Amino acid sequence: MKMEKIYDAIVIGGGPGGSTASTFLARAGKKVLVLEKERFPRFHIGESLLPYSQRIFREMGVLPELEAAGFPKKFGAQFHLGTGAKSLNLKFSNGCFTKEPMTFQVERAKFDDILLKHARKSGAQVREGWTVTKFSSDSGGVTVAAKDESGATETFRGAFLIDASGRGNFTGNLEGLRVIHPKLKKLALFGHFENVALDAGEKGGDTVIFRLANKWFWIIPISATKTSVGCVMDQAEFSRTKQSPEEIFNGIVQSSAPLRDRMKNARLAGQFYTTGDFSYENRRLVGQRLLRVGDAAGFLDPIFSTGVYLAMYSAKLASRVVLESLAAGNDGARRMRCYEKKVSRAMNFYWEMVEGFYTTPFMEALLEPTEKYQLLSAVTAVLAGELEGGWKLYWRRKMFLLIVRLQRRFPLLPRISFD
Ligand code: FAD
Repeated sequence: MKMEKIYDAIVIGGGPGGSTASTFLARAGKKVLVLEKERFPRFHIGESLLPYSQRIFREMGVLPELEAAGFPKKFGAQFHLGTGAKSLNLKFSNGCFTKEPMTFQVERAKFDDILLKHARKSGAQVREGWTVTKFSSDSGGVTVAAKDESGATETFRGAFLIDASGRGNFTGNLEGLRVIHPKLKKLALFGHFENVALDAGEKGGDTVIFRLANKWFWIIPISATKTSVGCVMDQAEFSRTKQSPEEIFNGIVQSSAPLRDRMKNARLAGQFYTTGDFSYENRRLVGQRLLRVGDAAGFLDPIFSTGVYLAMYSAKLASRVVLESLAAGNDGARRMRCYEKKVSRAMNFYWEMVEGFYTTPFMEALLEPTEKYQLLSAVTAVLAGELEGGWKLYWRRKMFLLIVRLQRRFPLLPRISFD
């Protein structure tokens, strides 16, 4: 066992949350250590970004590197019924409340590697192949134990700990804080494909969603040749179907004419994956000298592609708490409570939309867009990542959700069918 080293902050995980937090801290001149159990580049799912991520990229100083990487550009999102009967094409620049018109669709192996390298270039110490195994905190700081690939262990001492361990949920699991959403016990089947039929022009970069009964498909172009295609379905339905994951996936593709058309000439490029996709939230997002960011705070069903953005948004806020607490020379307990409130609010903001997505009235309202009271603009802004739009966005979003509630009882809008 080696001697302890002292850092201003220790960050668990080098995904988008960990890279963002450590970049902000290192650029402010702080001594920060990132411990990442894998070696990058490594595969990761979660490839469609939200336009408001661009602001965080700019502030981190990483935008030029991302622009140079040649990722496809995303200007909008499409929601289609699996029957092909109805659809909504959102273009971010059309929403009058949306201040960021586009973002990237990314191959995460490459994207996460760029962000982690940028953290390192900004001055963070990054150790890949190091798994955090233990942590404890006291009034003066945190102690973290980690082991490398050979099994050698070291302990590190820091003033603050940022848990960005993703769905590994390192500190939340150790403290028994994770609460799984009772209705969103989902599973995802996915892979990268070549020759998926995409739209021509700008719309070729859109995220395309197909909503079928109790399940949905994503189509996300992530490079000039590769498209990520995946299906999210109920874990219970998957377990009941006595077929292989690929057979289930192909069966669902065949059940929908527009999906069948998109996938007519598609060929799997690489591995086919299956992963649990349970939405959860930790009961606490902070602890003594500890902040949880991104999926280590909570995980939301990926229908609206919010994961990476929320990870970066929360990481930016967490780094600010650490910087202000270091400057004040205290443990930041009060700032942490504000952080927790703000991040919970951001997560709940999307939580309601995600729960709604699995109900028919929500889809009936989403697929019948109206610019009356600028409702479509408000929905567009929310789906672009506008979290701080103030009252003008708040009441319009609530009004949209009220229409959904009324639609449950009264047919205000045309009814839809998933068959
Ligand atoms: P991660 O990106 O998971 O990074 C955590 C890192 O911590 C990992 O590199 C891991 O190796 C490391 N780590 C874990 N434990 C330890 C440990 N003990 N010690 C050291 N290192 C550790 N999001 C979107 O924005 N758009 C999408 O289209 C989208 N689609 C998705 C589809 C599916 C099926 C799923 C499951 C998720 C999807 N997401 C999507 C969500 C997205 O993947 C996550 O929200 C995002 O990766 C969160 O970033 P993070 O930094 O919090 O965690």
